[in-house]
Amino acid sequence: MKAYQLLAPGRADLTDVDVPSPGPGEVLLRVAGCGVCHSDLHLLHASGLPYPMTLGHEPAGTVAELGAGVHGWEVGQGALAYIVWGCGMCRRCAEGAENACERFPRGLVPGPGLGYPGAMAEYMVAPARSLVPLGGLDPVEAAPLADAGLTPYHAIDRCRALLTPAATAVVIGVGGLGHLAVQILRAVTGSRIVAVDVDPARLAAAEGFGADETVLSDEEAAGRVLELTKGVGADVVLDFVGSGPTLSLAAGVLSSYGCLTVVGLAGGTLAFPAASPPQGLPWGAAVTKPYAGTRRDLHEVLALARQGRIRARVQRWPLAAATSVLAELEAGTIEGRAVLTP
Ligand code: NAD
Ligand code: ZN
Ligand code: ZN
Repeated sequence: MKAYQLLAPGRADLTDVDVPSPGPGEVLLRVAGCGVCHSDLHLLHASGLPYPMTLGHEPAGTVAELGAGVHGWEVGQGALAYIVWGCGMCRRCAEGAENACERFPRGLVPGPGLGYPGAMAEYMVAPARSLVPLGGLDPVEAAPLADAGLTPYHAIDRCRALLTPAATAVVIGVGGLGHLAVQILRAVTGSRIVAVDVDPARLAAAEGFGADETVLSDEEAAGRVLELTKGVGADVVLDFVGSGPTLSLAAGVLSSYGCLTVVGLAGGTLAFPAASPPQGLPWGAAVTKPYAGTRRDLHEVLALARQGRIRARVQRWPLAAATSVLAELEAGTIEGRAVLTP
């Protein structure tokens, strides 16, 4: 079968590999679609990975074969895979929070395309317990929910108590994750949503997804967000970029006792001077850096999608176009989420 593999730092290509076979407790998934995440670009530019590694951590498809001992699934059934594969036994995994599995202390819990062979391929093997039924959702449209839906949902859930109808939430970066974050905020909170991006077209789209206000990300952005909140600042700031400029924007518009959530991995550093405001963060600020989400979050994300309250904006591309898609993502010309179809 064809698989899109990382071969060396900075190098990935379509290769021929054997169709994998599911071991005990595993399922072979026939991939219908796999979303392309900005993290795939970070992986492409990283080093020291287990090369060759098939990319792809937004998998959706149909069950093709059951490994020994797997019950409850039928061949042909539509499924999405939970993408952090913890040990399944520690206290975090017992809570469904495999994203914090203790077998990988302070490290990255692996998953498909994140250590294991991923879904930019015709087939993928997954632990049966990682699969969630699609329940009628189109697999190509649902694929991005595995990460671009799950991760913002989890990030929002962690600061849900702050997200009252009187609160303001700022979403920095309304791309693959951010355009779903706006929809999730709209669906699960009553808070005012301010979308921030460098691209005016994405800001216009964000209004359609439910943003109340939009702000162009430039040197005036912090002032405009503060103006919108009468100088008080935003209760929750979700940074889906994570660069130096976005982190200082995030810190500069956070309200006292607000929550700054850093999801993006652009390599910026958040200044944290232990001094009285206005230096750095306001009093009472909390900073969080969530990774993916829990299994329960994934069920809830799919429930929102089935209710029609969130929907990924999807661009379909053939698997063979993976290199072009990554180049377009890097150039900032993919709107919503690109999904590769084998
Ligand atoms: P994307 O490329 O689809 O979207 C990024 C968006 O940010 C684009 O709309 C872009 O225009 C905007 N942007 C870029 N620079 C900006 C700036 N200075 N100010 C405001 N907006 C700006 O990326 P994505 O797939 O949504 O991923 C976003 C980030 O989240 C990546 O760094 C990715 O690696 C990371 N990520 C983290 C997790 C996690 O678990 N923590 C999970 C998935 C993705
Ligand atoms: Zn991702
Ligand atoms: Zn575990």
